[in-house]
Amino acid sequence: MDEFELIERYFAGHDRGPGVVVGIGDDGAVLQPDPGRELVTVVDAVVAGVHFPVDINAADLGYRAVAVNLSDIAAMGARPRWMTLSLTLPGADPDWLQAFASGLHAAASEHDVALVGGDTTSGSEIVVSVQITGDVEAGKAILRSGAAVGDTIYVTGFLGDGAAGLSLFKDGKTDPGLCEAFLRPRARVEFGRSLLGVASAAIDVSDGLIDDLGKLLAASGVGGRVDLDALPLSGAMREHFGREAALGFALAGGDDYELCFTAGGALPAAGDLPVTPIGTVTAGDELVLFDQSGPVAFEDGGYRHFR
Ligand code: ADP
Ligand code: MG
Repeated sequence: MDEFELIERYFAGHDRGPGVVVGIGDDGAVLQPDPGRELVTVVDAVVAGVHFPVDINAADLGYRAVAVNLSDIAAMGARPRWMTLSLTLPGADPDWLQAFASGLHAAASEHDVALVGGDTTSGSEIVVSVQITGDVEAGKAILRSGAAVGDTIYVTGFLGDGAAGLSLFKDGKTDPGLCEAFLRPRARVEFGRSLLGVASAAIDVSDGLIDDLGKLLAASGVGGRVDLDALPLSGAMREHFGREAALGFALAGGDDYELCFTAGGALPAAGDLPVTPIGTVTAGDELVLFDQSGPVAFEDGGYRHFR
């Protein structure tokens, strides 16, 4: 199978949709933005063995490669619209490609994202790079830099499940909920869009709460206080790992793809999605963690109480 057959068989045919003037087949895609809206574009590459275990199921890999980009779009409060795919593969295995494409198209179709182009090359390792362009009402994108002193800090969903799932996966164990959280993260696209004009700042949690909330606070020039007892930890994670390890996953695990945001007023309805207040934006530049016993230090991937 040559490159063109491969594109035709697995990737073409998903390139129709609003705003697509020219899809796959020409030198470039031609896209028509809606009047009064700005474009938001994101890209994330995953390399076999670095970002995922090499033996990850191809369908999950395809799904995940799209979902992590949707999560960045969600954190901007934008609507995802069009994507491109750059794929480097050591060979063209039809079963692998079929599974990969099914996962990729599944994630894209959940949010009506058209695959309008890409690039296909051969190389020694699997590298998947997805780029998504979305749009948002002009001037309204939610930035990291808008948090104000006194705002409440919130997170969606549960924290730590993705990292806990990966840890189980690496040990050859499974738990349906936790492994799914890692393999098929649910980007919070609808809720992110509903935060337009409500959230003062937002970021998606991909590197762990401390890291990502730290970036949001730094971009806003403020500090924060986070109550560890308030963190949403799933029952499944606590059951497998206990509270201490669960807190470690939640604070520094990564791979959550939940939204962390700040807001001063009432929140929109979130349906079944848990949205949990976990702390407050403060003056200064420090992120302080505390629990019922007082301030807590977090260092080198572990945390401990001050003694
Ligand atoms: P060019 O040589 O002009 O870069 P290609 O021959 O590489 O174009 O690609 C032909 C068409 O197929 C282009 O429209 C390109 O965007 C699309 N394409 C290539 N690889 C992929 C892919 N993996 N997924 C989706 N579209 C692809
Ligand atoms: Mg060309």
